[in-house]
Amino acid sequence: MKSLQLEIHQTPDKGRGVFAGEAIARGRRILEFQGTVLKSAELTDDMLAMQVGPDDWLCSDGSLLDDCVNHSCDPNAGFLDGEPALFALRDIAAGEEITWDYSTSIGEPGWTLECRCGSPKCRGVVRSWGELEPAEQVRLRAIVLKYLRV
Ligand SMILES: [Zn+2]
Repeated sequence: MKSLQLEIHQTPDKGRGVFAGEAIARGRRILEFQGTVLKSAELTDDMLAMQVGPDDWLCSDGSLLDDCVNHSCDPNAGFLDGEPALFALRDIAAGEEITWDYSTSIGEPGWTLECRCGSPKCRGVVRSWGELEPAEQVRLRAIVLKYLRV
């Protein structure tokens, strides 16, 4: 299978983002997150870290394409198989920005991010998985990382 065309572009208000360079059919695997898995005690401020387990963080120096994928409270991509890899949740048109919901990877209590996704479903403040409203957990259950599926 040929690899999917993905492009990094500047967004008006969210820094860099990752965009579909071609139409992506629903269910297609878009990308796998890359990096080195470290424990929280090993993290330093200059790393970008995505939580992938209770004390496992997938880290990079910010130079990877997957570091640029932005959050949305109504994402078009998610962790359908529970692994840190994004799948298309619906058909995505060429030129559309790829987004995932950061709450579906983070289990760290107290973590928050002010959201500017602009979706009608926007939660305003993005929180860690365990601090989401139960209805939100139900809505996002199919796309959360495996370690949070308890
Ligand atoms: Zn939002």
